Amino acid sequence: MRRQGKMFVSLLIYTLTLVFPAGYASLPLVINTWPFKDATVAAWSALQSGGSVLDAVEAGCARCEMDQCDGSVGYGGSPDERGETTLDAMIMNGDTMEVGAVADLRRIKNAIGVARAVMEHTDHTLLVGQSATMFAESMGFIAEDLTTNKSLNIFSEWLKGNCQPNYWKNVNPDSSKTCGPYRPKATQTWNKRAQHANTHSHDTIGMIAIDNGGHLAAGTSTNGLTHKIPGRVGDSPIAGSGAYADSLAGAAAATGDGDVMMRFLPSYLAVELMRAGADPSAACKSAISRIKRHYSEFFGAIICANTTGHYGAACNKVPGLTQFHYMVTNSESSTPMLKSVDCF
Ligand code: ASP
Repeated sequence: MRRQGKMFVSLLIYTLTLVFPAGYASLPLVINTWPFKDATVAAWSALQSGGSVLDAVEAGCARCEMDQCDGSVGYGGSPDERGETTLDAMIMNGDTMEVGAVADLRRIKNAIGVARAVMEHTDHTLLVGQSATMFAESMGFIAEDLTTNKSLNIFSEWLKGNCQPNYWKNVNPDSSKTCGPYRPKATQTWNKRAQHANTHSHDTIGMIAIDNGGHLAAGTSTNGLTHKIPGRVGDSPIAGSGAYADSLAGAAAATGDGDVMMRFLPSYLAVELMRAGADPSAACKSAISRIKRHYSEFFGAIICANTTGHYGAACNKVPGLTQFHYMVTNSESSTPMLKSVDCF
């Protein structure tokens, strides 16, 4: 009898795996990069309380900004070469294809909120730097110092270590040994790109929300790359690179070495592949493969979801990233599920 019971349970589990394989469809859906669980919860509760998919993405990313997820989102992380934390964020409405984004945003904590204000209160797509701060203030956001003891400490350790690592090349004095200021070298040599990025120097929350009506939105928020050259903007606020959403096809959001990834528009590519019929895992994999062809050692991952709520993810296998974790909540599981994918 006991044996029959065990067989029944095994059969049930087997049947459930066939009916509900990884990434099975269920709407509404919230999915985000990395194990930023509280952000998933915030986005899901925004949807559950009647908010739109844009409200969900904004609430999820804003939660990460306040929690300083991983130190890589929001204030007090990734100080640049002058010790300042600057923020990049974007939000995209998959129904209207409107985008709002901010890059190199200074002294404002709620970057995703400012990105949404760019989308809703201007005809522009992307505002940058000090002017983005002035825009934010005019929209009622409070300007404040984004520096913390932690970011000051990271900065002073970097200065003590002769400004290593940094992102300069072909300059004098030798940037691999000393701090700047640097001047261009008369003769330039081509060197294989240094493997700068690792799991500790950066991350991004990238989030996708889909409601029962098939409305899609996607967004990102990050403080970019530690020790970046001031003025550096990553992939996260660039539509098609950091994230992309089209309610007729699907959505994707990326994280990783933005300086490389933004050259390939991986989120756009993944959405176009889903439009052509690829399932989300295959679309994510193709977007990563496209980059790998040129930069086999890049650090990066992407999440994808189609309009029916199927989802998937992919990542490039490098030391420090062999498995990528992401969060999912849908109507089958109102508590966030931690998912992982093996990098290839
Ligand atoms: N993509 C971000 C950037 O390069 C950082 C990350 O996601 O790891 O700014």
